[in-house]
Amino acid sequence: MKILVTGGAGYIGSHTCVELINAGYEVVIADNFLNSCPVVLDRIKELTGRDFGFYECDLRDRAPLDKIFAEHKIDAVIHFAGLKAVGESVEKPLEYYDNNLGCTLTLCEAMRAANCKRLVFSSSATVYGMNNPSPLREDMPIGGTTNPYGTTKYMIELILRDLYASDNTWSIALLRYFNPIGAHKSGRIGENPNGIPNNLMPYITQVAVGKLPYINVFGNDYDTPDGTGVRDYIHVVDLALGHLKAVEKIMSGTGIDAYNLGTGKGYSVLEMIRSLEKASGKKLNYKIMGRRPGDLASCYSDPSKALRELGWRAERGLEEMCEDSWRWQSMNPEGY
Ligand code: NAD
Ligand code: UDP
Repeated sequence: MKILVTGGAGYIGSHTCVELINAGYEVVIADNFLNSCPVVLDRIKELTGRDFGFYECDLRDRAPLDKIFAEHKIDAVIHFAGLKAVGESVEKPLEYYDNNLGCTLTLCEAMRAANCKRLVFSSSATVYGMNNPSPLREDMPIGGTTNPYGTTKYMIELILRDLYASDNTWSIALLRYFNPIGAHKSGRIGENPNGIPNNLMPYITQVAVGKLPYINVFGNDYDTPDGTGVRDYIHVVDLALGHLKAVEKIMSGTGIDAYNLGTGKGYSVLEMIRSLEKASGKKLNYKIMGRRPGDLASCYSDPSKALRELGWRAERGLEEMCEDSWRWQSMNPEGY
């Protein structure tokens, strides 16, 4: 079976490609390296010992997509390609709407023309907005997003539901990721943020490796056990394996469904710092700052639907997530 992976050179895409190839799938990657680099492809090859198709292209361009579908019999598409930085999306809303919606619309048009109607889409817990209490369930209302990035994910979910309503031969899984961290056990692939990281875990590991002086803790007056923000961190390899289960599901029938991919357990910022201190053996400095605008106190999943309907659950705990994040960062202090 052959899977087209858009954004396959990125953080989650590269881990998913490794798991797909190891499970015996044929893989074709399409990526324009907007937020990744070619060396990732060599690392995927190194880790799997297998080759795969690769097209350097912008997903907003129709012609290369038509070429991919003409040259390969693609059974299903996993669509990771997109921009993902919340703060940047507030600064550059047009770029975010253009890239994230543009990629998805052009991809779906090319898929329809090629009669390939099986799609796994990278959505996000951010679609639950500010008004739902955790644990978050797939049947809660979505929307009320607080930044253009989140709104692109919400809009794409609506677009894909309209697409299915117009043609029920499509089979679509909307995967709502919680907070992916960790890296492949080898330390050869991992998260490679540009510049100063926005997300907590890469920030912490860069402090641990000595690239940044201390961690800014955004608020300690939330209604949480220690006052700092609580999130549902999930190992990127567990997340990758969730995509294999979603592919099995969409191959087995038609429909459109959303699934949370999280652990169901929340950890605070201070718990994350302590856990990375343990994994790295280093004392980490931090400073308590004001709250970051738009942040929720707590955000964690009810992951039971994915277990019930996909037969998937996260297996890797916090200690393993931190050890693997640290191995990646310490083996690759400057990233790729
Ligand atoms: P990433 O930036 O590492 O990977 C995205 C990949 O898409 C990159 O390789 C980039 O070069 C490529 N890309 C972007 N625009 C493109 C275009 N126009 N044409 C071709 N390729 C393009 O991000 P990631 O962390 O691996 O996230 C993958 C997906 O999961 C994204 O859609 C993201 O929004 C979503 N997601 C990520 C998180 C997270 O915390 N990492 C959480 C929820 C959802
Ligand atoms: N956070 C923090 N310092 C940072 C980055 C994040 O204290 O430098 C906090 C943030 O307020 C939130 C948690 O860590 O409570 C996770 O933030 P991240 O940006 O990684 O994920 P998201 O908020 O998008 O779930």
